[in-house]
Amino acid sequence: MPKLPVFKMFIDGQWQSSSSSQTFQKLNPATGRPIGIFQRGSKHDVNDAIESAEKAFGKWSEIPAPKRGKILLKVAELLEKNKESLAKELTEEMGKVLEESRGDIQEAIDMAEYMAGEGRRLFGKTTTSELKNKFAMTIREPIGVVGCITPWNFPFAIPSWKLFPALACGNTVVFKPSSDTPRCAIRLVEILEKAGLPKGVLNLVTGSGSSIGDAIVNDKRVRMVSFTGHRDTGKGILKKAGIKKVSLELGSKNVVIIMNDADLSLALDGVVWGAFGTTGQRCTAASRVIVHDSIKEKFEKMLLERTRKLKIGNGLDKGVQVGPLINKEALRKVHKYTRIGLKEGAKLLIGGKRYGIKGNFYHPTIFTNVSPKMRIAQEEIFGPTTAIISAKNLDDAIEKANSVEYGLSFSIYTKDIDKAFEAIRKLQSGIVYVNASTIGAEIHLPFGGVKESGFGREGGWTAIEEFSNEKTVYVDYSGKLQRAQIDVD
Ligand code: NAD
Repeated sequence: MPKLPVFKMFIDGQWQSSSSSQTFQKLNPATGRPIGIFQRGSKHDVNDAIESAEKAFGKWSEIPAPKRGKILLKVAELLEKNKESLAKELTEEMGKVLEESRGDIQEAIDMAEYMAGEGRRLFGKTTTSELKNKFAMTIREPIGVVGCITPWNFPFAIPSWKLFPALACGNTVVFKPSSDTPRCAIRLVEILEKAGLPKGVLNLVTGSGSSIGDAIVNDKRVRMVSFTGHRDTGKGILKKAGIKKVSLELGSKNVVIIMNDADLSLALDGVVWGAFGTTGQRCTAASRVIVHDSIKEKFEKMLLERTRKLKIGNGLDKGVQVGPLINKEALRKVHKYTRIGLKEGAKLLIGGKRYGIKGNFYHPTIFTNVSPKMRIAQEEIFGPTTAIISAKNLDDAIEKANSVEYGLSFSIYTKDIDKAFEAIRKLQSGIVYVNASTIGAEIHLPFGGVKESGFGREGGWTAIEEFSNEKTVYVDYSGKLQRAQIDVD
């Protein structure tokens, strides 16, 4: 067996081992073979990373934002140049099919380009004062040291949604990626280093979420925590963060609604992509399908036929559409929900079992006759499982769609413009798609949820609002004391 490569953490501009001398291995989810040895960072390493970020903040925040943006342009260029090899590594590390891995990197490229431009658009506002000869405006300022904690399912895209706007705004960063995708995080940081990011501006600590994640969240020197991950982890972070800015991008139980006037083959494409793309491991996955009673049987047959043909396998192999689950624990969790669904009385249309004996593969799984209260219709499964629920009419569909604790990305297929607009207004989610699936967010628009899917918005102009403070400035050039609310005439 060839010797495994050993990867380091990046603190204060140096690639270094953990002070604990502890390491962990990361396995390829398709083959079960280890891909490398990674550092299990300690609280001491987190302390060094925060100290380094704090030290670098003064100089970095004073560099004019358009200049900071130029580094991101270089990042985009390097990502583009290395796209194919990075995509292969990504697939090897997390199992996503190669085409989707390319998409993951493309998202990071797009975000780098967009945020480079934002360096020239850190707009404040000006407005009128209620008093004469007084000027009122706002300016954007960086927040300070930002802790960015990310999951594994978009190992380039999600860190880029955080790091790039944070850096463009002039913050310095302590980055803690998921232990399931440390290598992608290291590759991204290598690129930022190569692009010319000054020492200490970005620090990477790898290792367990519960120890080093906690150390980042608890530290008062960290002025903001930007977290993407599971709802329960997010709840814990919110409790521990104290008085600092927190943004939470959490899980969901998304839905595709299909009305009886919908283009069914279009809806079919959307459901298959939404439910089984990335093996259902997306916060925006379509894990519920609400179908109008009158077309339910027909649509089920179409869905069954298409699902049967899906090619499962190693994401590096040509033609594969559904890759493995991220790890053994995810495999157990997905299968646990199959058992729960059966116990609850839902009808298993297809799947419900492991695929093969090697790797973490699971058959795309569809339950029907699901009632909205069942756990498989309420809880995030984060695997290739979807639940079909029937509805009498639009009101019924919307009520059922909104009957979950989450609200990230909901969709409706209908040709009726009145119904579409009614749904846009009434669906309780941060994102609504009409005649498109639940997945497909673009980087220049706000992204985020409502209810227990979290708060805060990433992407587009809202990312800049998220990663900066807006300072209010009054300039009184009247030469006398003017008292707001008192000297009104
Ligand atoms: P997770 O919550 O287990 O882990 C996310 C990150 O938090 C990891 O880096 C982990 O190490 C860290 N962490 C764990 N415990 C921590 C603690 N106590 N303090 C601080 N950090 C801690 O989630 P995951 O399994 O990596 O990702 C899947 C989840 O992420 C799903 O629920 C999915 O819906 C959600 N997700 C949401 C979005 C979104 O934008 N809304 C996007 C992708 C994934």
